[in-house]
Amino acid sequence: MNSKRIYLDNAATTPLRAEVAEAMREAVADSNYNPSSLHAEGRRAAAVLDAARERVASLLVATRSEIIFTSSGTEADNLALLGVARAASPGGHVVVTAIEHHAVLSAVDRLREEGFEVSVLPVGRDGLVDVAQFAAALRPTTVLASVMYANNEIGTVQPIAELTRVARSRGVLFHSDAVQAPSWLPIDVAELGVDLLSLSAHKCQGPKGVGLLYVRRGVPIVPILHGGGQEFGRRPGTQDVVGIAGMARALELAAAERAEQSRRVAALRDRLESGIRAAIPDVRINGAAPRLANNLNVSFAGAESASLLIALDLAGIAVSAGSACTSGSLEPSHVLAAMGLDQRRQHGTIRFSLGTTSSAADIDRVLAVLPALVAEQRCPSPVAG
Ligand code: PLP
Repeated sequence: MNSKRIYLDNAATTPLRAEVAEAMREAVADSNYNPSSLHAEGRRAAAVLDAARERVASLLVATRSEIIFTSSGTEADNLALLGVARAASPGGHVVVTAIEHHAVLSAVDRLREEGFEVSVLPVGRDGLVDVAQFAAALRPTTVLASVMYANNEIGTVQPIAELTRVARSRGVLFHSDAVQAPSWLPIDVAELGVDLLSLSAHKCQGPKGVGLLYVRRGVPIVPILHGGGQEFGRRPGTQDVVGIAGMARALELAAAERAEQSRRVAALRDRLESGIRAAIPDVRINGAAPRLANNLNVSFAGAESASLLIALDLAGIAVSAGSACTSGSLEPSHVLAAMGLDQRRQHGTIRFSLGTTSSAADIDRVLAVLPALVAEQRCPSPVAG
């Protein structure tokens, strides 16, 4: 390992920030106890938990009792979908989009089995949800709509404030998976108009295994886990005080640096995009604006994404295949398929996701090696003329 690795897979996970690690170290040293215990140690843990809840609530422009800490973004999504639907009348109707994360799509599979009706809203070739189409999908029996804020594969940012206005006017509760958002987009729940919103710490330089669900006061929701009365009776289980302290710090830093980092990283992303377009023929950029500042999803028709990923990895560059990588296996991307991308392009897709530490030198290095690697992948035979 003599050369520096270039990490461009921040949509998969982000490295823990030093300041976050420090906040967690302090919590480990001082307050790593059960916050439900009544003794001094427990009260110290409760104080750290309460302070983290207060800080997170203020970042979201919410109140403390509206923040439910969970074990992940996946759990937050599951709690939103299953918890709200099950609290409503059985047989109700739920609307999601075709490009949601599997944490939402698999949860609605479960709801179908339980007798709920589910509509899966298509997206356009641009990867965006159409507001009129969304309005048309709502029914008198619709109990919940779930539309992600920003997509993890193609980075498209949905018109959440417009969609929530429609949902509210029709008496439909609205959840948004905002897991990819905090480093790049404002997450003010009042401005977005959402009733529920999911976050995950590890996508914004916090620890893995910590998430939260914002639940607007008065929204009926039942727990999906059964046990103690933690998290206002909505999510049993002893809270990960250390992880939660880390998440609060990570979200604060993301919010403080969001405007500047978004500008800086979008410029680097644009440099990568124009460099690729200039040096490599027949490429397609997937996902139209508005797009997350750090996302560049590119199809190199005729190349094979898994081989390209490995070749880049060997060259010291970490990226993701456009196909969703679940448990280390490459599956066809439901997001690219929903956009109507042809198979040849789908199979040659790479997602570059920049991070807050990405630099111009990183981008130049990628541009120095990528054209030759794509050309090799497109024409792998040494005897080809
Ligand atoms: N939602 C989106 C949009 C994501 O990108 C992810 C992570 O890949 C999740 C949900 C799940 O979050 P977690 O990894 O915390 O379970």
